[in-house]
Amino acid sequence: MSESDIHSWLVWLMVAAGAGSAIALTILSAPYGRHARAGWGPTLDARWGWALMESPAVLVFIGVYLAGDQGSNAAPLALLALWQIHYVHRTFIFPLRMPAGGKRMPISVAAMAFVFNIWNAYINARWISELGSYEDSWLAQPAFIIGALIFACGFVLNIHSDRILFTLKRNSPDYAIPRGGLFRFVSCPNYLGEIVEWIGWAIAAWSPAGLAFAFFTAANLVPRALTHHRWYRERFPDYPRDRKALIPFIL
Ligand code: NDP
Repeated sequence: MSESDIHSWLVWLMVAAGAGSAIALTILSAPYGRHARAGWGPTLDARWGWALMESPAVLVFIGVYLAGDQGSNAAPLALLALWQIHYVHRTFIFPLRMPAGGKRMPISVAAMAFVFNIWNAYINARWISELGSYEDSWLAQPAFIIGALIFACGFVLNIHSDRILFTLKRNSPDYAIPRGGLFRFVSCPNYLGEIVEWIGWAIAAWSPAGLAFAFFTAANLVPRALTHHRWYRERFPDYPRDRKALIPFIL
């Protein structure tokens, strides 16, 4: 079996894993954050958990990328830059900005995410720097430009919404109703931003691996947004009735 075949299998496996996760997360909520509960084994500090589990998305991605023959070309470099803008923030800045509060997460959850990030880093980095083919002119193609703009919008929405949540968490002893930004319309604009980002990156890279990751992200975050939304409605009798879970006016 050639490396291309193996890569292709890993991409399809991610699509299958995404479908499986969506079904599982519709039945069970992922046990971290407000849905943390006993029965998932030993735990670690949530900030360390985030930094450790996301680190392969920075480090393995760079290692795999550098092993490819096309790594010095302009288009793969641009895709690498977009990826790293998100993941350097998620791995090193997001955990530092997260209010401490002694929150913990199960090591089992962090370990699953760690393995997933190695897998995801391999399929996407290998595609852009070796298995795919990008001329420099790809940077002027509508797919790249539109995809990069969508990615940027999602990135800003994700960071801005997480910042509102962090401020809320710092200023109130318990969970509160988030307000401002896109919270006016949906309960989880941070998840919407994340999904939009990876759809944008998949369009910019025009790759099956990028698409598989965008699908996996949505398969995880759509059920979690629906669970958060239900939780808000049950917990706060005055929760805004017209606020949707994830997509303004629709879902
Ligand atoms: P949440 O929205 O559940 O929580 C984000 C942070 O805000 C946590 O520190 C949380 O505290 C705090 N918070 C949330 N809601 C409130 C509230 N109402 N009042 C006070 N504090 C609140 O996001 P996640 O932790 O699930 O995800 C964090 C980031 O990681 C997001 O940007 C998300 O998009 C991304 N992510 C990406 C995934 C992917 O597949 N690519 C998968 C999962 C997450 P606490 O932890 O105490 O609840």
